[in-house]
Amino acid sequence: MNREDNLIKGKIIADTIGEELKLESAQFFQKTNMKPRLSVVILGDDPAAMFYVRMIEKSCQKVNFDFEKHALSEQATEEQLLDLLHRLNEDGIVHGIIVQTPLPEHINEDKIREALSPAKDVDCFNPVNMGKLAMGNPDFLPCTPEAVFEILKRENIEVEGKHVVIVGRSSVVGKPLALILLLKMPHANATVTVCHSRTKDLASYTRKGDIVVAAAGAARLVKGEMIKDGTIVIDVGTNEEKGKLVGDVDFDEVSRLASRITPVPGGVGPVTNMMLMKNTLQAAERQLAK
Ligand code: NAP
Repeated sequence: MNREDNLIKGKIIADTIGEELKLESAQFFQKTNMKPRLSVVILGDDPAAMFYVRMIEKSCQKVNFDFEKHALSEQATEEQLLDLLHRLNEDGIVHGIIVQTPLPEHINEDKIREALSPAKDVDCFNPVNMGKLAMGNPDFLPCTPEAVFEILKRENIEVEGKHVVIVGRSSVVGKPLALILLLKMPHANATVTVCHSRTKDLASYTRKGDIVVAAAGAARLVKGEMIKDGTIVIDVGTNEEKGKLVGDVDFDEVSRLASRITPVPGGVGPVTNMMLMKNTLQAAERQLAK
């Protein structure tokens, strides 16, 4: 039998953050006569990418931010994309920029990352911002790992001194999450283990975690037998299985043992979108303070 009392309701956390941001956005408008503005760049018409862009637009509407979409064709050249980014970097009414990935193969992603102004880089795409995070002095945090951090904070889950086991080492989720949880700051200071597809005997690591974060992109990878009783489990994974969205955690098995657990959908996803809004407001405030 699933327990309801251990469920971490990401949707409710996201709604609360949304209400806070709406107020802050109104205050920003009073001071500057401007709304925070997020610019999204997308190449091609990949349905998943387009769905994500629509979610961003909805989030902007929810918190009363301006949203603009720059849709280029899949055949757009690297030069055209770089030109657009340079214009957005210079545009005083644009505060945050994200470039939807994956990019078509003929585009050098590293060049695009480097071209994005670090001051407007609200998803920590530019290596300068990732480097600052690695050095322990971040300006922006990447939104998905930031959502995990925010959930732990808002649910009053003690992280300091705890052993966090992360399954996944991508530069979008697993690796930056490890860097965030290692920061010498309140709500961080964890001991972190990062596992990946070459890890031998994954379960021997996950069983040692006080907190297990699954970010592997492998449906139901984390089974009940792989965690100890009372573990806090955060599921970042989003996988399609028979037309349904499922996480990287076998929810039915693991939720019987976990002391707290995020569901999929309705866990990390909605909070991620709100982190993008939070970072956009932060970028706007910093730019206007100059
Ligand atoms: P990714 O780039 O494919 O990276 C997956 C990572 O997991 C890699 O490090 C891989 O190891 C590791 N891995 C894969 N299978 C494994 C296995 N069987 N055992 C151990 N490690 C394994 O994916 P990502 O971009 O980090 O995303 C991870 C998941 O989060 C996906 O389901 C994605 O859809 C989801 N996601 C959710 C949000 C959200 O807001 N909720 C945002 C972004 C991503 P190697 O490095 O050895 O290949």
